[in-house]
Amino acid sequence: MTNPFQLLGISDDVVNAVKDLGFENPTPIQEQSIPVLLEGTNDFVGLAQTGTGKTAAFGLPLLELIDFKVNKPQALILCPTRELCLQIANDLKNFSKNVANAHVVAVYGGANIMQQLREIRQGVQIVVATPGRMLDIIGRKAIDFSSVKYVVLDEADEMLNMGFQDDINDILSTTPDDKKTWLFSATMPAEVRRIAKKYMNEPVELTMGTKNTGNVNIEHEYYIVRARDKYAALKRIVDFNPEIFAVVFCKTKLDTQDVAEHLIKDGYNADALHGDLSQQQRDKVMQRFRERNMQLLIATDVAARGIDVNNVTHVINYSLPDEIESYTHRSGRTGRAGKTGISICIINSKEVGKIRQLERIIGKQFTKAELPTGFDVCEKQLFSLVHKVHNVEVNNEQIDQYIPRIMDEFADLTKEDVIKRFASLEFNRFLDYYSKAPDLNAAVGDDRGERGERGERRGRGSEGYTRLFINLGSVDEFTRGDMLSFICNNGKIGGKSVGKIDLKGVFSFFEVEDAVADTVFEGFKSVEFNGRQVRIEKSGDGGREGGGERRGGGERRSGGFGGERRGGGGGGFRGSDRRSSGGSGRREGGSREGGASGGGFRDFSGRSRDEKGGNTGGSGRREGGSREGGSGERRKKW
Ligand code: AMP
Repeated sequence: MTNPFQLLGISDDVVNAVKDLGFENPTPIQEQSIPVLLEGTNDFVGLAQTGTGKTAAFGLPLLELIDFKVNKPQALILCPTRELCLQIANDLKNFSKNVANAHVVAVYGGANIMQQLREIRQGVQIVVATPGRMLDIIGRKAIDFSSVKYVVLDEADEMLNMGFQDDINDILSTTPDDKKTWLFSATMPAEVRRIAKKYMNEPVELTMGTKNTGNVNIEHEYYIVRARDKYAALKRIVDFNPEIFAVVFCKTKLDTQDVAEHLIKDGYNADALHGDLSQQQRDKVMQRFRERNMQLLIATDVAARGIDVNNVTHVINYSLPDEIESYTHRSGRTGRAGKTGISICIINSKEVGKIRQLERIIGKQFTKAELPTGFDVCEKQLFSLVHKVHNVEVNNEQIDQYIPRIMDEFADLTKEDVIKRFASLEFNRFLDYYSKAPDLNAAVGDDRGERGERGERRGRGSEGYTRLFINLGSVDEFTRGDMLSFICNNGKIGGKSVGKIDLKGVFSFFEVEDAVADTVFEGFKSVEFNGRQVRIEKSGDGGREGGGERRGGGERRSGGFGGERRGGGGGGFRGSDRRSSGGSGRREGGSREGGASGGGFRDFSGRSRDEKGGNTGGSGRREGGSREGGSGERRKKW
């Protein structure tokens, strides 16, 4: 039988390679674009969501059109982030593994430029690049684009959002006028239209799905809660979905870190991904998520761009994004490669209007969902456990030796009694925690939370002091004393003007007398530490909502479920799951001991401790990190 990719015009070598990747049939976008792009004579605009098979849609035709006997760059693919760049290059290497003399190079910031230059010198036909590093290499006159025939602008909307317009202009000006340009974008804002017009000549346009429509495989839900209950709501959603594997989006780096730290403390298998982490730290976090050693990835929009992890079950918008367009990118992290997914928004009653706006933009209705009651959660967890017990793989060789003793112990119990006891062991814990759990659903118009939130603005310094955030912490090997001298030396103030210092992992807070706050800001204007720009902010500037309620959550938790689990032997339903995967975190932290001990989770949260010294990703952050929110003004606000 003829392979469907062959029918589209793809050669045997490439077809065999995609078969090895498990691609049996082309995805709709591949079916539509491959024949058009194979002609090689048109400019092209493809409006398509991420996760739809876009890379093969342009990658396979490129492999057919390039002359691999010639060792010169013939195709240039520009994309917004390092992660996406690596993915595309990797995909292309896989697709071309049977093609003789095919060379693909990935060019991105935050990695050794010498190695990239060496690969270029050895001869490549396909260059996959992020704009910043590409310009750098062009500036060194280390690449010759005079033979480029095809330029692909992937995730064009994201590149513009990240402020790469000028860089793209400069890069394209070094390529021949008669090249063909293929542009892919998940959304089509006016800026993308403008560049399509500028760089293209009567492009063939294909829209996969309706314009700006989200992936059909994604369901959209929203929960209305009081602002102070947001964190509790997040936990409840997670508890109600024991098999959840999710990306949780926050607005700011600070929120991201904060939510992740609270979740870790509460025994969840979570971690943060944001631009203040070094490239090395981000890679580690992503690797753990990709390998499913982590259930909840708490991320900012920028850091999560280009993440291609299959089987993400949920995207949770802990805060709605500042720019409407970002919602499509966020939700596109789930429902990939034909799978279904759920995108959840946790909002307050004043944000319902934003949901209506989103519905108009993606052309889909959101379902208003009710947060499950504590009892619902208990029931769900109970049956998840029962299901797991039923399906667990038994290691007969190991367990058989204990069976006689175990049977002895249970001799006086019926089968039903034993089952009841096993189930109760875990069920009781959940029941204890959730028996007093309040209804978290807020009605539309119920703004008590908002009042509370304003009244309880977080991050206030002590009386007469300003509380500041700094992007350095214990992972940078700072003690409190070191931090005090660092603040005094750079802020040009005396030690007496410094109040409390709250040293955290990758960041810290400190207080300075109100009168000297401006001096400190001035002093820290261009301070670097280990090649990294030191940043201070007024604490709370990046905090937005959710501070007070999380504190509140903490109080509620102290006598409750989280405390119990950390406290030791028990574990809870989720404990079995999370602790087992938390184990990998502990291994990273260096201690394999103490499977059921509370300390385990703390070691786990100390992930970054063994990554100290990894702050080498300066330029990587430029591409993927520190532009976070940087080009906000040009983006469409609510
Ligand atoms: P992309 O949109 O290119 O990032 O692709 C999303 C995911 O779908 C990736 O994991 C691809 O490996 C996978 N994929 C792409 N095309 C196919 C196909 N024809 N059949 C099965 N999986 C595919």
